[in-house]
Amino acid sequence: MKLANESKTTDIQMIRNRRQFLLQATAIGASPLLANAQLDDKKKAQIVITYDLEMSRHYPKRGMTEWDYQKGNLDDATKEYSLESAKRISDLGGKIHYFCVGRVLEQSDISWLTDINELGHPIGNHTYDHVNVTAKTAAQTQFRFQRSPWLVQGKTAFEIILENIRLAEIALQERAGIKCNGFRTPGGFYKGLQDSPEIRKLLMALGYEWISGKYPPHQSERGDDGVKESVYENIVAAQKNAQPFRYDNDLLEIPMSPISDVTAFRSKFWQLDEFKHAIKRSVMWAIETGGVFDFLCHPSCMVIEDPKFETILMMADLVKQHSDRAELVTLDKVADRYKS
Ligand SMILES: [Zn+2]
Repeated sequence: MKLANESKTTDIQMIRNRRQFLLQATAIGASPLLANAQLDDKKKAQIVITYDLEMSRHYPKRGMTEWDYQKGNLDDATKEYSLESAKRISDLGGKIHYFCVGRVLEQSDISWLTDINELGHPIGNHTYDHVNVTAKTAAQTQFRFQRSPWLVQGKTAFEIILENIRLAEIALQERAGIKCNGFRTPGGFYKGLQDSPEIRKLLMALGYEWISGKYPPHQSERGDDGVKESVYENIVAAQKNAQPFRYDNDLLEIPMSPISDVTAFRSKFWQLDEFKHAIKRSVMWAIETGGVFDFLCHPSCMVIEDPKFETILMMADLVKQHSDRAELVTLDKVADRYKS
């Protein structure tokens, strides 16, 4: 009893001392100390792993482009990889942020997706058919509607886009009981949705407070002797152009951080070690600056290029090694920080 009282007294004394210290600090004009203490916690780097649930052209084999018309027709390997990734990151205490093409919900078996949801990983909207939300004509919205134009006959591009966003929400909700967490544009845009005010307005009206649509330009060349140091440096330098910002209608943009899996592996034939090296340096940039790194990848590509989950496990490990300065979070947690 005596010991407990003693420690209680000490606690009270410590609180008094601390209050006295803070009062003194304020009195001598050092109040920013408090603000800084709060800011430090806020400035932890935020590292995010995101998976776009869709098929990718040229996977699992070069020349396979039929997926352009059937983005949601996920093969078994892609589904297994998506779920296994969720389990592995869950085991490490983290979460992956998924974005799902609505047509996935037409498949007979969606248990892998409901399992991911039940593990607590957020799933956002990636439209129903993977439409280009900046399209100006019906034909530009999606390959599927070029081959089968009767599906969208008489509709404007805007009407198709609106319906495609809504259909994905409805499919996820009705078939799987999943409420969309955020929106990612199919395809990334150098300026995000800067030049599409009507789509930004639409997304806000549909209740999206944040989106992920910008993918900044960067170098990605690979020569016969591999990826040059200057390319890695360029990718790290591009990270400052991949930081969250608000459009003038208050919609928050959380850009995709280069380099994406499809840019590296599909377009430029990178090797896994090169990809991991670029991602590691970019994550370290975020940790050193207190920035955001929003890793963009596709399980349909990664299951072929990185079958042992090396990249995401490396990212989780980097966050663990620097847990005083970094956290592995989902995009809605990044958005929370920007709520004024
Ligand atoms: Zn996509």
